[in-house]
Amino acid sequence: MTSIVWFRDDLRLADHPALHAALDRGGPVVLLYLFDQESPGIRPLGGATLWWLHHSLRAHAAEIHKRGGRLLLRRGSAEDVLPTLVAETGAEAVFWNRRYGASREVDARLTSTLRADGVEVASFAANLLVEPWEVTTAAGEPYQVFTPFWRAARERPMREPLPAPRELPGGPAPASDDLASWELLPTRPDWAEGLRETWEPGEAAAARRLEAFADEGLADYHRRDEPAIGTSNLSPHLRFGEISPTQIWHRMHGDLSPAARTNVPKFLSEVGWRDFNWSILYANPDLATRNYRAAYDAFPWSWDRGLEVEAWQQGRTGIPLVDAGMRELWRTGSMHNRVRMVVASFLVKNLLRHWRIGEEWFWDTLVDADEASNPGNWQWVAGSGADAAPYFRVFNPELQARKFDPDGHYVRDWVPAEELLAPIVDLAESRRQALDAFASLKR
Ligand SMILES: Cc1cc2nc3c(=O)[nH]c(=O)nc-3n(C[C@H](O)[C@H](O)[C@H](O)COP(=O)(O)OP(=O)(O)OC[C@H]3O[C@@H](n4cnc5c(N)ncnc54)[C@H](O)[C@@H]3O)c2cc1C
Repeated sequence: MTSIVWFRDDLRLADHPALHAALDRGGPVVLLYLFDQESPGIRPLGGATLWWLHHSLRAHAAEIHKRGGRLLLRRGSAEDVLPTLVAETGAEAVFWNRRYGASREVDARLTSTLRADGVEVASFAANLLVEPWEVTTAAGEPYQVFTPFWRAARERPMREPLPAPRELPGGPAPASDDLASWELLPTRPDWAEGLRETWEPGEAAAARRLEAFADEGLADYHRRDEPAIGTSNLSPHLRFGEISPTQIWHRMHGDLSPAARTNVPKFLSEVGWRDFNWSILYANPDLATRNYRAAYDAFPWSWDRGLEVEAWQQGRTGIPLVDAGMRELWRTGSMHNRVRMVVASFLVKNLLRHWRIGEEWFWDTLVDADEASNPGNWQWVAGSGADAAPYFRVFNPELQARKFDPDGHYVRDWVPAEELLAPIVDLAESRRQALDAFASLKR
């Protein structure tokens, strides 16, 4: 009667349809997390997400333990580990929540091989508001523009979030890896101090953050573009599935102050951008390595990762808002959205570097780095993406700072006045060069 629930980027107990299905089936349940950095289509995690994963797994294991269960840890390629575990435990059923990137091919192959062996396999919608194939144009094509995508998506009936089980049944207890043996945390050097100060991974902390945001932050969300004001900070929790967008959707339709309520449509549309990026990735599994618009293949971006790129990574470009953002990223593993757009535009346009150089740096340093939103947003800024900002829109970091950080609070937090450097490029001149490069593409 044994079932296996395979946790992936859904490290929660509430609103977990795969877990629910296993419990409904009855009998012993094995709760598995499989650390797979090697299957085809898997993008190995960067340093910041490895840090988050360690803490998220520890929190998840503790929540499971409180309810009488146990989280089994295994490492390796899913197509080796899962069938082995099925044989070891005599499991008759395997359940998981769906994933939508290139690794879904692994799931499809596993479904066939396990079913061929007589094992029941079922997968569930859990990590997006809508399944990518449910929202298409009249011609059945994926949307390329956000506004009609979101108009269609938000009209669809949303799932009701499922409660967390109060108790978890025991089951066979095959040998588990020790989390520490995976060495997910940085040691030499330990650069994670700022991450520890900033974040608390795990489902319980995610739920508290959503409540705090609904009660306090949401009423100011119309000022979300001001980095000193801040936004929900839910993105890494969503990234690891410690909370589902469905839970967020329902909370936004619950009890809120009138001031908070006015900001709900805008906030939910931002959550909708996450779904939009996943739907783009679903249709374009190589989004991180290929221009969504092929016309950009001819763009004369430079691949030079030398001094200017290093100055950008280290927050030493001499452009205060850019340096503030890059230092915030290095210290906290995150950066305010408006500032992400400014630093990305600076790299891709003022420094004329390929967007993939920036995308890879963010992949390694962001705690919310995700397969869809990171390349999707980089391509958006570069102009090569879906519904992208036109290339000729070059953010002026000085104007952006005046507009969105008028008192300089954000910049001063990250770049003390005595650390201001001379700019590594002339903004006006480099902007002209970017526009010339764009004109060459049009020709
Ligand atoms: C160059 C660049 C790279 C980015 N890389 C990532 C990434 O790897 N992972 C990631 O989650 N977001 C990424 N973003 C989008 C956005 O900056 C973050 O989602 C946001 O800053 C997270 O803060 P928050 O949770 O407080 O957002 P809020 O404003 O509170 O928004 C709520 C949620 O909506 C979603 N969201 C908001 N904006 C976007 C967006 N533009 N695209 C997709 N989802 C969005 C996120 O899940 C976010 O948690 C990137 C943006 C840029 C410009």
